[in-house]
Amino acid sequence: MNMMMISDECRMAVETVRRFVQGKVQPLEMEVERLGNIPPEKLAALKQEAIALGLYALNMPEEVGGGGLSTLDMCLVEEQLGQTSDALIRRIFGQVYPMLMACSPAQREKYLLPTVKGEKICAMAITEPGAGSDAASISTTARLENGQWVLNGTKHFISDGDIADYVIVMALNDAEKRARGGITLFLVDRDTPGFSVARTQPMMGHRGYGHAELVFSDCRIPQDAVLGEVGGGFKLIMQSVSAIRLGHIGARCVGMAQRVLEMMRQHAATRKQFGSPIGDYQMIQKMIADSAIEIFAARSMVLDCARDIDLGLDPRDKVSMIKVFASEMLGKVADRGIQVFGGYGFTKELPLERIYRDARVTRIYDGTSEIHRMLVARSVIKNGLSI
Ligand SMILES: Cc1cc2nc3c(=O)[nH]c(=O)nc-3n(C[C@H](O)[C@H](O)[C@H](O)COP(=O)(O)OP(=O)(O)OC[C@H]3O[C@@H](n4cnc5c(N)ncnc54)[C@H](O)[C@@H]3O)c2cc1C
Repeated sequence: MNMMMISDECRMAVETVRRFVQGKVQPLEMEVERLGNIPPEKLAALKQEAIALGLYALNMPEEVGGGGLSTLDMCLVEEQLGQTSDALIRRIFGQVYPMLMACSPAQREKYLLPTVKGEKICAMAITEPGAGSDAASISTTARLENGQWVLNGTKHFISDGDIADYVIVMALNDAEKRARGGITLFLVDRDTPGFSVARTQPMMGHRGYGHAELVFSDCRIPQDAVLGEVGGGFKLIMQSVSAIRLGHIGARCVGMAQRVLEMMRQHAATRKQFGSPIGDYQMIQKMIADSAIEIFAARSMVLDCARDIDLGLDPRDKVSMIKVFASEMLGKVADRGIQVFGGYGFTKELPLERIYRDARVTRIYDGTSEIHRMLVARSVIKNGLSI
């Protein structure tokens, strides 16, 4: 995007995040990878700095203390955040789920505002051992008993589920209606009796934060622990996921791929074999050219869709297309990055092997590539291509 077209305020935010990420966050990546966590004193200092610079919870509206950026501006910022690991982004810049805007006034005080300030961590628990892509088939139940909701069921793969102060839990309150008015979101505090973290689930990548199996066993919560409306949980999730898929996945994949391409560019210019920089060889040039073309395409898609959202449209098909294209693009670029670096690319001395592993899950979470392709196909078959 022509940077002349963005506001001074956005340009400043993008530049501040860029300098912060590259100068202070990226140098921590190797240590986080080695330790499997972020050293607490370093994390505290960087998080405080991010908060002081106004870079925490940038995705949230200004009225609740967030950055108040437009979707387009937020995507440009997300590109810069995407230049580091998910664990560091979460901890230093915050991972505040937009569906929290459905909080009641009392819930705002207790959950939303402390989360936007970085005082509380929230996890979102939708997936279950028996219900992944088909989220409407969940079996965690919520029944109203003596003025309290009683939750029973198991969630798994829940990011930050091991440390969250509270969890947004999706449960079934009406098995007949399911996604059509029978699914509700609940806010559950971590110390609620009947709620436990059963185990953490080590992953192939995304080291530095945990994923957990959560069990709700006759877990009693107040009647006003409902987020949004009773029966409105599925709709609320669907309304909020576009922003997550576009920013957290689409724009971050673009940013990470840009970082890999820049590494490829520098290496191709300096690494000599057979008497010439490897960038002189057409097969290396093809990998660089294909990466540049695909990054440009993904970036154009993200920014186009962000503009639609800012215009008040609900471009779900475009978001699905971007979720597929950007995540698969990053996988290809990360793979080429390793190839261009040869043996160095395979070592743990460079971030490439981590990026290669971290990239893999972007094709899985928040809807797999297959599910998003299915949604695109259904829509195109029914209505034609509307872009
Ligand atoms: C690192 C990580 C973090 C996560 N964080 C969270 C979180 O914070 N909160 C949360 O709730 N969940 C989280 N998840 C869960 C994630 O959203 C699910 O893994 C994802 O939705 C896929 O569900 P599944 O794993 O059950 O796969 P399944 O749904 O079992 O799919 C298995 C395979 O079948 C394919 N498939 C399924 N249905 C169809 C179909 N109709 N047509 C064609 N192919 C199909 C899928 O595409 C996939 O290839 C996380 C997962 C990971 C790995």
